[in-house]
Amino acid sequence: MVRRRKTKIVKIGNVKIGGGFPISVQSMTNTKTWDVGATVSQIKKIKKAGCEIIRVGVPDLKSAKTLSKIKEKINLPLVADIHFSADLALEAINQGADKIRINPGNFPKSGLRKIVVLCKRKKIPIRIGINSGSLEKDILGNHERVTAKMMVESALRNIKLMEKLGFYDLVISLKAPDVLRTIRAYELLAKKVDYPFHLGITEAGREFSGTIKSAIGIGSLLLKGIGDTVRVSLTTDPVEEVKVAWEILKSLELRERGVKIVSCPTCARTEIDIMGLTKEIEKITQNIKKPLKIAVMGCIVNGLGEAREADLGIVGFERVALITKNGEILKRVKEKDILREFKKELKNYY
Ligand code: SF4
Repeated sequence: MVRRRKTKIVKIGNVKIGGGFPISVQSMTNTKTWDVGATVSQIKKIKKAGCEIIRVGVPDLKSAKTLSKIKEKINLPLVADIHFSADLALEAINQGADKIRINPGNFPKSGLRKIVVLCKRKKIPIRIGINSGSLEKDILGNHERVTAKMMVESALRNIKLMEKLGFYDLVISLKAPDVLRTIRAYELLAKKVDYPFHLGITEAGREFSGTIKSAIGIGSLLLKGIGDTVRVSLTTDPVEEVKVAWEILKSLELRERGVKIVSCPTCARTEIDIMGLTKEIEKITQNIKKPLKIAVMGCIVNGLGEAREADLGIVGFERVALITKNGEILKRVKEKDILREFKKELKNYY
């Protein structure tokens, strides 16, 4: 069991983060926010994949003014991502954003007071989102590379500014595109404040490398008990970000959702088409939300052992397959019938 860092609780719409509440999964749209139809349609797809908090970019007034229309059509907390402009933040809050994210590296300090007053009135939190790519110039100084310490310095400076204004409804993130710097920054800040943390490896790359970096970075921090909400950043469809985030949380047994497939890598002993079967099973079970463990194994070497620990299993055995339920062998089927018979048992299971 991971012992989680104790933090304040922050409420984003109807989702609470920190204070031991479940680690929530977030993502961000990549449509033009002002295109309400496209944005809402993407949010619905992302939500179906398991997203619990959605963020949209607000680069202009046209986008800010559509937030209330988007909010009407979705039922998950909406976060407005703001850079450069206090007026955009004010408009987003007035339009009903459930949280705003500001980047201290580019956000005018002169606009903070007005925002804080409005956030207090509307009871919405602010995320101070430090990003190594846009750190305040005076902290960077003459150095060529932003360090974890510099990111923490920026976070502490901006937390203090907010606290001076009497605002404590804060979430903090410290993102860099590399794993070690990100981990170091969160570890350092975790010793100094008790605000909840939004975790992520920013600009992690395409699906393959980004998934690995995110799993190592976010996963290492979660294992240390650090982190209250996660966003995986991938250069691909945001639906994939949500799937990866869930796999990280499920792997660490911090959350449960949907199907967990245990499948063998195949080898010379493989008796049935494990690759094809696993792909099909992934497809037919992708919308199941209840936790379910399925073993898909090529032979009896490890097959029966894995099947014993799974709710349902398929184990290759002398050119046929054994279908198991709760560790018991239910039937023996020919290879061509495996999927059909498995689907029947999956239906029976519920
Ligand atoms: Fe090979 Fe059997 Fe292990 Fe699969 S379970 S990798 S087929 S030995």
